Formats: sequence, structure tokens, C-alpha cells
Amino acid sequence: MNLISSILSNPIEYLKGVGPQRGELLRKEINLHTFRDLLEYYPFRYVDRTKVDKIAHLSGIEDFVQIRGRIVYMEVMGEKRSKRLVATLQDETGRIELVWFQGWQWMEKSLRQNVSYLVFGRLSQFNSTLQMAHPEIDLVTEETATGKQHLEPVYYTTEKLKVKGLTAKAIGKLSANLLQQLQLAEIRENIPQPVLQAFRLMPRAQAFFKIHLPASEEEAKQAQRRLKFEELFLAQIRICRLKIRRHHQSHGFVFNAVGEVFNNFYNNHMPFPLTGAQKRVLKEIRKDTVTGRQMNRLLQGDVGSGKTMVALLTLLIAIDNGFQGCLMAPTEILAQQHYNGLSELLKDTPVKVALLTGNVKGKARKTILAETIEGTVHILIGTHALLENEVKFKHLGMAIVDEQHRFGVAQRARLWEKNNTPPHILVMTATPIPRTLAMTVYGDLDVSVIDEMPPGRKPITTVHRTEFQRPQVMDFIKEEIRKGRQAYIVYPLIEESANMDYENLTKGYEEVKAFFPEPKYYISMVHGRQPQAQKETNMQRFVAGDTQIMVATTVIEVGVNVPNASVMVIESTERFGLSQLHQLRGRVGRGAEQSFCILMTGNKLGKDSQERVKVMVKTNDGFVISEKDMELRGPGDMEGTRQSGLLDLKLADIVQDRAMLAAARECAEKILSEDPELELPENKPLSEYLATQRSKSSWSKIS
Ligand code: ADP
Ligand code: MG
Repeated sequence: MNLISSILSNPIEYLKGVGPQRGELLRKEINLHTFRDLLEYYPFRYVDRTKVDKIAHLSGIEDFVQIRGRIVYMEVMGEKRSKRLVATLQDETGRIELVWFQGWQWMEKSLRQNVSYLVFGRLSQFNSTLQMAHPEIDLVTEETATGKQHLEPVYYTTEKLKVKGLTAKAIGKLSANLLQQLQLAEIRENIPQPVLQAFRLMPRAQAFFKIHLPASEEEAKQAQRRLKFEELFLAQIRICRLKIRRHHQSHGFVFNAVGEVFNNFYNNHMPFPLTGAQKRVLKEIRKDTVTGRQMNRLLQGDVGSGKTMVALLTLLIAIDNGFQGCLMAPTEILAQQHYNGLSELLKDTPVKVALLTGNVKGKARKTILAETIEGTVHILIGTHALLENEVKFKHLGMAIVDEQHRFGVAQRARLWEKNNTPPHILVMTATPIPRTLAMTVYGDLDVSVIDEMPPGRKPITTVHRTEFQRPQVMDFIKEEIRKGRQAYIVYPLIEESANMDYENLTKGYEEVKAFFPEPKYYISMVHGRQPQAQKETNMQRFVAGDTQIMVATTVIEVGVNVPNASVMVIESTERFGLSQLHQLRGRVGRGAEQSFCILMTGNKLGKDSQERVKVMVKTNDGFVISEKDMELRGPGDMEGTRQSGLLDLKLADIVQDRAMLAAARECAEKILSEDPELELPENKPLSEYLATQRSKSSWSKIS
């Protein structure tokens, strides 16, 4: 280990001005453990201290401002805890108030009247007076007479840190200290020279200096650009290497034959011809399973695009080759529905399907487990119960995960461990993943897309209605029911406010019941607090058409299939995320009839909610919606990314920097295709750097 890396890996408390107490706090509060962490703790913005404002020109809506003036008056005001020092600062054009709530005794002593100060801080308006609380204040000297000649970095800090004196400014001082101790040469380059040149990126060491202490906006921007690229590029190198290794190493079963089981079903029992997209995807899967390598494929297809049939046909191929398959769903209801659907489709074939969830207990469970290990069960359908150790297969060849975003990465990895040779894995999702996110989070998976809906579907009409219009909405539902259709009314349910949410649901149910009295109408209510059996009965009554309305929480979000349902009413739409709304809407529009989605909201809407409603009304395209969703929520909140740990990006934003991400991806692929082991001299900085970053190699088991 060389001297340099040892300096950067020093514990943060050894930095001058830190010490054990603050060190502990820095670790706890903002996750800074080493000198390197501090170096990579970038300012989130800069304030321009080269500009001095005139008081008369301030409108009160500015954020940070800098002014120069004299203190013409000071007074301690208020009683006891609300005691504060108020000073009036005046320049040639006007006056503002400076206020100190804390440390005012000291300020009162040290401030002098009628000398010039340079004052910097956040402007606020109190009644009609412009105010600045706890400003930074410096005596005007020759150096500061015309303002400070640099950009001031602003660092994120917390209340607890501030109490210990670690304000944004103090953190800035620490990193300035650190940079002073480091020599430029001590920060090693990690991007190959040709890449630096091609993308006009500044050297790494320079970038660290300039991101913390830029002389201008332009410098800050260039430094950020370099470091962003580095993040994206390194991530892509890792992901692409993983993919290459997997292709080389992970041995997989070979499915040579498409035989009796598949052909019999395909020719005699399939209820409809496949769409072109379904056929294409099936071919892609087929190709993967003859290579001798393990398949790791992500199947994306909008709600209702027909992923289940592709899954079934894939499982049949496995069976034709002497293997078993499993299909894992995120909820009991969905597993049950898959089981019912597949059993029905396969009823005149020799394929044996079984269902295993947490609710299958006692003797029934024992039997299924035994038959699975014997191999008499061909397809085992279930929830995450499938992952438990007691579930053993004779010969698991194909594992399919439906609606994968509900599963954590670690859970999926456990599917691998069912055999010595891992089964082929097909992950299906109806949440279209934006291309950029797919590239980052699922970059090591191969992706198939079903981009065509089964024929005869009419686009769903989506409208926005408010509380005032509820009577009309109810009349509309009545009209649809009169035509023989069914309707869903869905209420939000989140853990944090579960009790209140259930109350709303029950209240809603009573209201609906008043509008739709028995015996003319029947209503199913389904929610998570019901016993499983009751839930299922209520569900089945709706599926069978015995009830016309289903009042439910989001338990129905995933997978429920009732083609006769033509109305989806979503209550408190403002509380749902876009992807969820899209999923819910996908429950209707599955039959030949025109379907409707009614987004109910309060009369007043926040800006983000308005935006979401607007998008929903405008488009049915899942990809457009997921891009928008990511834009509104930020990629960190996207389902599936939190657990993945792959989006460890400090500066880059895969939405805003998507063009750069694509470039970094392309660049990484090119380098690795020419030099897979990174042995060329020009790639040495990169391979050396990666070797020091071994700790991150826990990435190798992503799906
Ligand atoms: P998802 O992709 O959301 O899982 P499903 O597999 O549940 O969609 O399919 C939605 C509906 O479309 C089901 O009723 C299914 O039977 C039907 N379907 C699937 N493929 C076709 C097809 N090729 N032609 C006609 N209907 C189809
Ligand atoms: Mg589905």
C-alpha cells in the first residue's frame, strides 16, 4: 500500500479540527468515515460571493445575498428565551435588519457601529421588513472591499452537526484543510487517457480541488462534469464486466428440445394466437436456454400485455427437457390467481401444477413439498414461501419471478441456490423501467420487451373528478353496471396511516352501499386485514360476476384479471405514485369494451399531484409514465433501486444526466470489448483503481 492511499483512508477524526467527538458525529450524521469520504463529500451548490447587492434593489424573494454597509443601530429585544439582538444595517440605498437569536451576547459585544461590514446570509421578510438571521459578517478590509473573490461552496449539514460547530462553512474549512495537505499527484487518475481526451474531462486531482474550491461557475461545472462521468463510467465498467463474466462462467442447463408438452399445449389448448411481440420474446428466451449458460432475462411488458402466457410457454419448454419450473408472485392473491389460471389452461394436459403459499399448511403442505422434491409437481407456483429452505426441487430448471419490483435483490438471489447449477431466471415486470434505470440497475440482465397489446383492446379513457362531482361519478357507475359491466373502487393504504386508511375504506364502502343497495346490487370488499378465506371468497364473487362492484385497497394492484370490469375509480389519487396509478388502471381495459379510469381527488391539489393527474389523463403509455415518475420522484425512490445498492451515485443523476450515462455505457462496452481484462497500458489506471475497490464486488449476485 502506498503512502497516498493510506492518507486517504485515515479515519476522519485524525483530520485537524475534527477529533474523536466530532469524528463520531460525522460518521453517524453524514456517513463520513475517512479522509476520502470527506474528499468525496461534495458541495451541493455554490454561492457567488463576488457580487455585492444594494439594499434598495432587493425584492425580498432572493435567497442568499451579500451586502456591504454600516451598523447604525443595535438593540436587545424580547424577554427571556425570546431575547435577541437586532441590528440595523444601512448602505447608500436603504436599510435591513440583522437578527441573532443565539450567541447574541457575544455579537453585541463585538459588533461596532459606524464601521463597514460585509454581510452575507439568507434573506427573509418579516412583516414588511427585510431581515437576515445569523448572517456571516466580516469587517470590510482591503481584501473584502469589493466582495470575496471566489465561489463559496455550500455543504449539507444537520442540526446535530451544527450544534457541535460543524456548520456548512466549517465543513468547507475541513475539506479545504484536507486539500491543502494533499498534493495533486496524490490523487491518482482512474480514467484512461484516451477517454479523458475524447470527452474533454479534467484530470481527477484537479477535479477534486475545483469542485470544492472553484474560482468560477464554469470551473465548478467542469469539475462536476468530470466526477459525474467518473461515477457513471466506473459503474458501467463494473456492470459490463459482471455481464461478461456471467456469460463466460455461469454454467446453465441446455434445453435442447421443444417437445410433446409444449407442442400439445400450443396446438391444442392455447386459447388465442400469440401476438408478434410474445412470439419474439419467446424466441429470445429459447435462444438463451440453448447456450449452455444461465439465462438472466428481464421481461418488461405493460400491464395486460400478456406476460403470463409467455411465462407458461417457457415453463413448458423446461418440462419438455425433464426439468421443473417455478413461478413466484409477490402476493397471495396473485399467486392464487396464477394457480387458478394455469390450472385451467393445463387441465387437459399431463402437466401437474401446485400452489405453495404461507397459507398452505399441515398435510397439504407436506404433500406438495414431497411431490416437489420427487419431481411429480412440474410447476410450483407460490409467493416468497418458495424461497424457504424446506422447498426443494428434484430438478429446477426455470425460475420465473413475476412483478419483480416487489422482491428484494437478496431474495431473488436465493433462487439460485436451489440447485448446484442455477436455474434459468426470467424476471417479469409490468413497471416499465426507464431505459436509463435499466442500464444502471439491471445493466447486467438481458432485456426483452413486449411492446404490443393483444388485439381488440380499446385505450382506456382517463378522467379527473373532484369531490363535488361524486354524485355524477356514482351515476356513471350505475350506467355501466346497467350495461352489464363491473367496477373497481380503490382506496389507498399505507403502513404509516393504516388505521385511518381502513377507516376511510370502511366509510367509503358504506357510502357506496347506500348508492348501490342490495338486492339490486352486490358489493365485494377486499383488503389485507380480512382472513384469507374471506378475501378469496369476496374476490371470487367479483371474478364470477356475482358482485358488480369491488371496493378494495391496493391489494388488487397487481395481476387481478377480470375482463368484464370497465370502470376503475381511484380514491385519493393524490396519495398514489404514478407507477401505482398506472398499475391500477391496468386492471380495466382487458375486455373488448371501452373502459374508464376515474381519478378522484380533493378539490385542491398540490403541484406534484396535479402533474401526476395530468400525465395519467394524457397517456396510457407505461414507458412515458415511468420516465415521468422517475423525474418527479428521483431515481432513488424508484422501486427496486433502493435495495439494489447499485445506485451509489453522489453527483450523477440518471435522469438529468441520461445522455452522459449512455455515453459512459458505450465507452465502457467499447473498452471491455477490446480489452476484457483491462491489461492494456492505457487501461492500467482503471484496473488499478478497481483493484482498490474490491469491497464493492458484492454486486455479483444481483438477480
Ligand atoms: P400481464 O402482462 O399484465 O401479466 P396477462 O398475462 O395477465 O397480462 O394478460 C392480460 C390478458 O390478456 C389476459 O386475459 C390474457 O388471457 C390476455 N391475453 C394474453 N395474450 C393474449 C393474446 N395473444 N391474445 C389475446 N389475449 C391475450
Ligand atoms: Mg401479470
